[in-house]
Amino acid sequence: MFFSKMFIPTLREAPSDADIVSAKLMIRSGMIRKLASGLYEFLPLGLRVLRKIENIIRQEMNAAGGQEVSLPLIFPKDLWLETGRWNVYGKELFRLKDRKDAEFCLAPTAEEAVTDLIRKDIKSYKQLPVMLYQFGTKFRDEIRPRFGVMRSREFLMKDAYSFHADEVDLEKYYKKMFDAYTNICVRCGFKFRAVEASSGAIGGSFSHEFMILADTGEEEIAWCDCGYGANSEKAECFKNEHPKEKAFSIEEIFTPNVCAVKDVAKFLNSSPKKFVKTMIYIADEKPVAVLVRGDHEINEIKLQDLLGASEIMLADERTVISITKAPVGFAGPVGLENIKIVADLSVIEISNAITGANKKDYHVKNVNYKRDYNANIIADIRKVMHGDICPRCKKEELRFSRGIEVGHTFKLGTKYSKSMNATYLDTNGKENLIVMGCYGIGVTRILAATIEQSHDDNGIIWPDNIAPFEVIIIPINYADEKIKEVTEKIYKELSLKGLDILIDDRDERAGIKFKDADLIGIPYRITIGEKNLANGNVELKARRDEKDGVKLLKPEEAISEVIIASQLANDGQD
Ligand code: ATP
Ligand code: MG
Repeated sequence: MFFSKMFIPTLREAPSDADIVSAKLMIRSGMIRKLASGLYEFLPLGLRVLRKIENIIRQEMNAAGGQEVSLPLIFPKDLWLETGRWNVYGKELFRLKDRKDAEFCLAPTAEEAVTDLIRKDIKSYKQLPVMLYQFGTKFRDEIRPRFGVMRSREFLMKDAYSFHADEVDLEKYYKKMFDAYTNICVRCGFKFRAVEASSGAIGGSFSHEFMILADTGEEEIAWCDCGYGANSEKAECFKNEHPKEKAFSIEEIFTPNVCAVKDVAKFLNSSPKKFVKTMIYIADEKPVAVLVRGDHEINEIKLQDLLGASEIMLADERTVISITKAPVGFAGPVGLENIKIVADLSVIEISNAITGANKKDYHVKNVNYKRDYNANIIADIRKVMHGDICPRCKKEELRFSRGIEVGHTFKLGTKYSKSMNATYLDTNGKENLIVMGCYGIGVTRILAATIEQSHDDNGIIWPDNIAPFEVIIIPINYADEKIKEVTEKIYKELSLKGLDILIDDRDERAGIKFKDADLIGIPYRITIGEKNLANGNVELKARRDEKDGVKLLKPEEAISEVIIASQLANDGQD
């Protein structure tokens, strides 16, 4: 492939609205262009990378026994009403009408469509298990499209769905898909972690996210050397033990105009750790009092899961006043009636706690669980925080890293088969619900996340396996017969080994060609110039080993070094 013949419009500067390094580099290297907010065009270079990632994923899906299908991108509303997601999905769902005014949505995922397909054709246990997958454009009207193709409104996803006779079979298959996803991440050359996650709008009982480690990641991961890892929105909290103290008598104290936890703690010469923070929430229209320790924060995702509510929000001022009979800031569990109370595990451990008195300008101290208040539910409902002990090994402190979620695997169970009545007949002729798993991975997001993880000041540094080209040959002057001859010889020999090669045949200064090669991030650069060639040498430079610099080698040596290096990378040993 000749550079001069390809559409690679590189830019010196990134547009000012490119908000993250991967987006800047993708635009500058001529991989993508922006059409409108969250909508991008993939140019030839970008599409080459996308196809390579797609092929790795396809191979792993086929190896896991998957069969590729292609589902429509437009789904009828009726299917989405069956599962209730027409309403639950909210504004992220792109909705449209046809000429007869019938309503549809653009695919954000395809659980409904694929479950419908299966329920029509699968009747017997003999047809199970089955796994179907596709590469398809997904549409989500993200509230804040950003970070280029990382959070766009139209993106390429591989989505897979597996169907099983029972939970045991799903469990077995889920492990297989977990391994397939791990292989994908290894083969794409990522530093990554697979962590436990919350299931969000897709639902189901259990899920893992595959996170690419990068400081710019939107997600936070809590992890431990013992092997535990979770999205911090899901991470379990280790119960904080408090030394038990002798219980003193409860006492009301006047705290004029002090209501923030740390102010009250200071006022009483105590610590936020002694405080029971009480927040009034509305969960599916019913009020709930939620208690956490003063230095902890409520994890609304855990709370919502615990309550099984489809929506939770903080109560407004009027509701708080009507429930606590006091202005906002003075709520406490003592004497709080006619409301469900949910307490965090750490709260009930506090002896002689401080809390609001449900009375303006008053707090109570020496509050003890059971003696002074009760809770309807005691559970882990707080956010994990720095200094927390790992809930698995119960020894080490948790560590925190930023990550970009590229893939998400879910055990759905019967969530969709139940609402859509997808059943099969078992060996006894009895009807059972089909048990499901689903597995998504963002192809466009992988591409951007790779750059986020692997770049330097000069541009992208592609891992060999997904680079748009593995080798760039730069003839300093392609019009020179001798240079042209060596260029073509190297090109031919490397092509025969199956490598993708770009020849920069442009009539440009060497400096410009080097800059573009670095920007585009091609793993190996072979430069052929008159001076070195006079001594029978060419230059070889690996993009990722900047400090190793340039090696002068005979053309045959350069060829074999590149072949060996790329084979090593392909074997995942790089
Ligand atoms: P996020 O929490 O980042 O919004 P999600 O939980 O909504 O992600 P899933 O529904 O699990 O994502 O989708 C599977 C994969 O699709 C994600 O892991 C990600 O790689 C990709 N993806 C999701 N939303 C987008 C988007 N707006 N742009 C690009 N890729 C996306
Ligand atoms: Mg999302």
